[in-house]
Amino acid sequence: MLPLVYHPDFVTPLPPEHRFPMPKFGRIYAEILHAGIAGPDQFHLPLIAQREWLELVHTPAYVTSYLTGSIDAKAMRRIGFPWSPALVTRTCTAVGGTVLAARLALAHGIACSTAGGTHHAHADFGSGFCIFNDLAVAARVMQREEDVRQALIVDLDVHQGDGSAAIFAHDPSVFTFSMHCEKNFPFRKSASNLDLSLPAGMEDEAYLAVLAERLPGLLDTVRPDLVFYDAGVDSHRDDRLGKLALSDAGLYARDYFVLTECRKRGIPTACVVGGGYSKDIDALARRHVLLHRAASEVVG
Ligand SMILES: [Zn+2]
Repeated sequence: MLPLVYHPDFVTPLPPEHRFPMPKFGRIYAEILHAGIAGPDQFHLPLIAQREWLELVHTPAYVTSYLTGSIDAKAMRRIGFPWSPALVTRTCTAVGGTVLAARLALAHGIACSTAGGTHHAHADFGSGFCIFNDLAVAARVMQREEDVRQALIVDLDVHQGDGSAAIFAHDPSVFTFSMHCEKNFPFRKSASNLDLSLPAGMEDEAYLAVLAERLPGLLDTVRPDLVFYDAGVDSHRDDRLGKLALSDAGLYARDYFVLTECRKRGIPTACVVGGGYSKDIDALARRHVLLHRAASEVVG
């Protein structure tokens, strides 16, 4: 049975008309239950990320400024959220969720959070709705507290994982792989260990062919003890911010392929939902839940 991670604090109020679809996290949880993908007993409640975990990746000055609200307005504008104590709780709980998903993946093979994937967060600043880099923090916590030496981030969000790439630029123990749309945020990209830039408008067949050509060899070369899979759905054709043209079936096939390739090799895989933008929150939640459906299928 697939272990899942959710906390009510994954959702926090934002000003009305804010362009970030915050309510989707609650809807993802509801949809997993509603669609019968998992029962309530499969959900695990994360602990809030400790400051010590955050500082395995982020500078103490940045961590302090964000946690205490002394962060300057310009830095918050770059993040794109208004600062609030509730947002701090939300941020740290989501990081805790990815840490817990990683631990559950090590114990059970595959585990999925219902948040996470804040890959634009750098060591000393946040950007693009990303404050702390949950993937990076969880990788370092697992290296310190669990039997993980080599980690691999498979980042299939439509945007490049620039924060993760920069954080691990000089740390070969976390391999960063990003497959994203070339003409999209961030416009100044950091170099991942492997970047595959795709042209705008790419559809299912071409996309899945690129993935099938590169992922198996990557898993065999890097031989990670743990994979972090960012299954962003902003590569969907109806996404407001993405510029690729995948269908629901294409996203499902993508997630199923990644998880099957990892499982075949016995590599534990922790999944996060990543980006996805739509005004239709129900449609967006269903799109994200393709990941949990595929994971549940693969686990059997
Ligand atoms: Zn994205």
